[in-house]
Amino acid sequence: MNASFLITAGPTRERVDPVRFISNYSTGTFGYAIAKESSKRGFKTTLVSGPTHIKTPRGVRLIKVESALEMRDAVQREFKRHSCLIMAAAVSDWRVEEPKEFKIKRRKGPLTLRLVQNPDIVAGIAKNKGGRLVVGFALETRDFLNNAGQKLREKNLDLIVANKLSGGSNVFGIGLTDVVIIDRAGKKDTYRGRTKDALAKIILDKVLAFNI
Ligand code: C5P
Repeated sequence: MNASFLITAGPTRERVDPVRFISNYSTGTFGYAIAKESSKRGFKTTLVSGPTHIKTPRGVRLIKVESALEMRDAVQREFKRHSCLIMAAAVSDWRVEEPKEFKIKRRKGPLTLRLVQNPDIVAGIAKNKGGRLVVGFALETRDFLNNAGQKLREKNLDLIVANKLSGGSNVFGIGLTDVVIIDRAGKKDTYRGRTKDALAKIILDKVLAFNI
């Protein structure tokens, strides 16, 4: 089978009312870099992206989504048509239970929003992956190797790219990044001070070594 890549990128936006949302600092840089590299190498590449300002790389089929539920639906629909899912998106863990149809009026005193958990997209997909390869990302502030290793196992991933978020470092956007890539067998490879373009090449090489 020719390798083909389904990649997710960017944040999700969870609607509060028609003018407000809850989201995170993800810029989409990593996922777009991987999609660009995959397309450059001639692989069929589909990118499911939350809102970002990044130009769609040449040759990449873009599916735009906003919320985690929209991203899940797109990933579930597309997964079977690709040999590998690379889940680089920063999916919002919660959504507003009851988004309002009209703009919430300002008023005195606090406002309470009730949040409910979003589904874990990659874990749901990886339960039934049937020979396909699934790669996850982990952004950790504490005990990052143990947490990332645990996620790899719990979510039934083949590889996890662990990013450490610490006081001075900025993992969002185009800066240099330190990552540890852990595979199913528990092998860990550390890469320090790399661009996301360089890491995209490394990640694709590792995935292709699985012979998908
Ligand atoms: O558990 P955590 O959010 O740190 O796991 C990160 C990995 O899980 C990433 O690959 C992310 O895209 C994925 N994820 C997901 N659905 C969620 C939350 C995270 O697929 N609701």
